[in-house]
Amino acid sequence: MKLAVIAHDGKKAEMVAFLLQNKEFLKEADIVATGTTGSHAEKAGLTVHKFLSGPMGGDAQIATLVAEKKIDLVFFFRDPQGKHPHEPDIQMLMRLCDVHNIPLTTNPAGAQLLLEGYANRKQK
Ligand code: PGA
Repeated sequence: MKLAVIAHDGKKAEMVAFLLQNKEFLKEADIVATGTTGSHAEKAGLTVHKFLSGPMGGDAQIATLVAEKKIDLVFFFRDPQGKHPHEPDIQMLMRLCDVHNIPLTTNPAGAQLLLEGYANRKQK
């Protein structure tokens, strides 16, 4: 499984907690992340491939992988309270997930369901 993880600053702690809770399952996943989210995950002991920080183009890099169908799931924990200078890149990433029918979720509850769904589908 190729998983892309991105979290706005106000949601990075939730992302790390989510990844740690699912560490066993994610052992076999290839995880890519925007730069700062990836650094937080690494500090928590996870192995991730880091792209640029989101505001520097990291979301756009992940969007490219989505367009190339190289990503299976996208977890983008957005902070609905914040303003983000790279909003156009975020919209592009979400649009490309829809164009290419790549599962995307923007909160931990959805991420948990997607992971469980992915695991069940693999078993069938
Ligand atoms: P970051 O980017 O992980 O580098 O902070 C996340 C984002 O797109 O806001």
